[in-house]
Amino acid sequence: VIEIGTPERSVITTCAYCGVGCSFKAEMRGDEVVRMVPWKHGKANRGHSCVKGRFAYGYASHSDRILKPMIRERIEDPWQEVSWDEAMRFAADRMRGLQEAYGRRSVGVITSSRCTNEETFLVQKLTRAVFGNNNTDTCARVCHSPTGYGLGQTFGTSAGTQDFDSVEATDVVIVIGANPTDGHPVFASRLKKRLRAGAKLIVIDPRRTDLVKSSHIAAAHHLALRPGTNVAVVSALAHVIVTEGLMDEAFIRTRCDWEEFSEYAEFIADPRHSPEATEALTGVAAEELRGAARLFATGGNGAIYYGLGVTEHSQGSTTVIAIANLAMLTGNLGRNGVGVNPLRGQNNVQGACDMGSFPHELPGYRHVKNPDVRAIFEELWGAKIDPEPGLRIPNMLDAAVDGTFKGLYCQGEDILQSDPDTKHVAAGLAAMECVIVHDLFLNETANYAHVFLPGSTFLEKDGTFTNAERRINRVRKVMAPRNGYADWEVTQMLANAMGAEWHYTHPSQIMAEIAATTPSFSRVTYELLEEHGSIQWPCNDSAPEGTPLMHVDGFVRGKGRFIVTEYVATDEKTGPRFPLLLTTGRILSQYNVGAQTRRTENVVWHDQDVLEIHPHDAEVRGVKDGDFVRLASRSGETALRATVTDRVSPGVVYTTFHHPDTQANVITTDFSDWATNCPEYKVTAVQVSPSNGP
Ligand code: SF4
Repeated sequence: VIEIGTPERSVITTCAYCGVGCSFKAEMRGDEVVRMVPWKHGKANRGHSCVKGRFAYGYASHSDRILKPMIRERIEDPWQEVSWDEAMRFAADRMRGLQEAYGRRSVGVITSSRCTNEETFLVQKLTRAVFGNNNTDTCARVCHSPTGYGLGQTFGTSAGTQDFDSVEATDVVIVIGANPTDGHPVFASRLKKRLRAGAKLIVIDPRRTDLVKSSHIAAAHHLALRPGTNVAVVSALAHVIVTEGLMDEAFIRTRCDWEEFSEYAEFIADPRHSPEATEALTGVAAEELRGAARLFATGGNGAIYYGLGVTEHSQGSTTVIAIANLAMLTGNLGRNGVGVNPLRGQNNVQGACDMGSFPHELPGYRHVKNPDVRAIFEELWGAKIDPEPGLRIPNMLDAAVDGTFKGLYCQGEDILQSDPDTKHVAAGLAAMECVIVHDLFLNETANYAHVFLPGSTFLEKDGTFTNAERRINRVRKVMAPRNGYADWEVTQMLANAMGAEWHYTHPSQIMAEIAATTPSFSRVTYELLEEHGSIQWPCNDSAPEGTPLMHVDGFVRGKGRFIVTEYVATDEKTGPRFPLLLTTGRILSQYNVGAQTRRTENVVWHDQDVLEIHPHDAEVRGVKDGDFVRLASRSGETALRATVTDRVSPGVVYTTFHHPDTQANVITTDFSDWATNCPEYKVTAVQVSPSNGP
């Protein structure tokens, strides 16, 4: 029993964990949160929450938080606490000095999808208007950047097509590369409710998630594919639909480019895409592929939901395109109950991408090479914008190792723990002459930092997050920042120390600047958000009350575009030394690398990552349930406990990555998506052997 006392006041705000974006009432006593109550008027959650969100306040008062700025000359030196003024002077002098010595493109920023839209907008403005380059990237690089590319190419904009309510009108659902029960629990509850009411389900996943079979739910088809073969599986579904004449020709003729479709249809009808040809490659039985294709094409309203099991592959962007092709082929776009829906991992992945935190795009997904778009920002900011796209995160690290990238401002992102190939990340950071970490805790990346700027939690600031259904939700300050400043104020101080003259006094002024420069946000104001509770973009003169469903009468790009999707095997191969394929995922009670959830008292506690291994693979290695095992790849090795289970197929092992001790990214490779450099976290050739422990 937890004694919470009587709350004195409450503030409505938005959960800062996953992309569902649940609304909560933070109940307060003094400056202390005593309880988070899911808000019944929240349009994304309608009074529901999961265990993470309910307890999402503990880490705000954790003793590990760093509340004073710190500097040091060299990373070998001890940290020295200083005033904010001194920290800013030190950081600005170093960054300015590096630009003078090595050129204006020698520095950059990495921002986090956990920060608000307003903070992200300011960070990319700092890069473009103050640093004078486009070296701005976001942690969406390592999760949903292929969604940006794939949906942009096919539909014309990088966003889920539906609202969450739409699931209530669906008849047949494909869940591919996602485990919403653990990753997006409140949406999973709505999906399960619909499944219990009779909607049919196709799960495409190497692992038997609980959606495949749990109480009152059984998937009609579980396509337990070999990791890395998503494109082949989705192409086989499309092959059946085209060759059996099950496509929605009327939709394709009116809504899509017919010439491109004809080229695609010829490609996909080739016998090499048939279920029979695909079976050996993917490990999925031909009759399962055929049955799933027929069900999706003929089962009524068809909706596709996908996650990082789609994007974090060398063919992540190709799979997103293949999914978009499948939806267009079956006419499943532009109405309730259908659509293509990326389940965003972090609370503000959608917003981080919308706000121009990619090195090639200004806010609103407009390319930096476009002089008309640059002119809009140049006029407002009084600064020239570099027409050359900047560096992505992996390019920054490569350039640092090569000696041409020297300074980094890293806000809210622990790249040493969360990015692939840890040794290479460490080498890149060690080679830089100024690393500024702006975070809540002294994270792993801070080991290589020269400046530490304390960050603020979502409870300590105003702003907005945009969830996976494009819903802009208000984040409201429930307590004063314990470190003294919200993150947007810290970025403003750094910009001003570098010579800018920014005078924002409230994030609503930043939102006004977003609206003035970004067509899909042009009618968004804090007043409108107060009036509606939340609103889905596009929100502009054509849609003054927002847009729950996209592409209703036409695609954003005009005609929908079919693109040929050739399967190309990953370069990560199994062999005698590394015969198993490792794939990764999440559990319900933890969030990403656990920086917040491990510092929060939850009702469900999970104290270690484990390795799931099939009974056959365990037996031949002499591994028993609960044993410590050594997990080794071509990149490195770690040790963790084994769980022997048939949730995974023979030849496949699975782990989570929530604990720093596991060091899952010591194992992962440096292969990445061909279009976006999103790392291939989901396929690593490994060996498992008995071990005495870590
Ligand atoms: Fe909602 Fe996701 Fe937060 Fe859970 S973690 S309360 S599902 S936003």
